[in-house]
Amino acid sequence: MESCIFCKIASGVFNTSFIYHDDQVVAFSDINPQAPVHVLIIPKAHIPSIRDLTDEALPGRLFKAAREIVKKLDLQDFRLVMNTGEKAGQSVFHLHIHLLGGRPMSWPPG
Ligand code: 5GP
Ligand code: ZN
Repeated sequence: MESCIFCKIASGVFNTSFIYHDDQVVAFSDINPQAPVHVLIIPKAHIPSIRDLTDEALPGRLFKAAREIVKKLDLQDFRLVMNTGEKAGQSVFHLHIHLLGGRPMSWPPG
């Protein structure tokens, strides 16, 4: 989708450094990190949110990417977050998982 910033990042037009990539998924650092490690894991395909997901195998691919990244970064404690909908904090409408780590985290989130 031409107007989508994450589609552009996934296509490589900005020469973004990918922490992880495979045929369906890429991961890169968040531009406004909320923790020492703040990685965004996204499908290459434009899917606005989990509500629009039809490929049942894709979540497994996203979690596989998360597992590979935490292994690579040797992270034992981390949080995976998927904000869905404006009121839940979603600001980019291309499905993504936040991988946050490197500091203690509190609960509940705001
Ligand atoms: P959301 O608010 O939708 O859950 O998460 C979107 C995330 O994308 C935010 O944490 C925001 O900082 C990040 N973000 C927005 N635009 C860009 C960008 O151009 N590059 C990168 N690396 N991250 C972005
Ligand atoms: Zn997109």
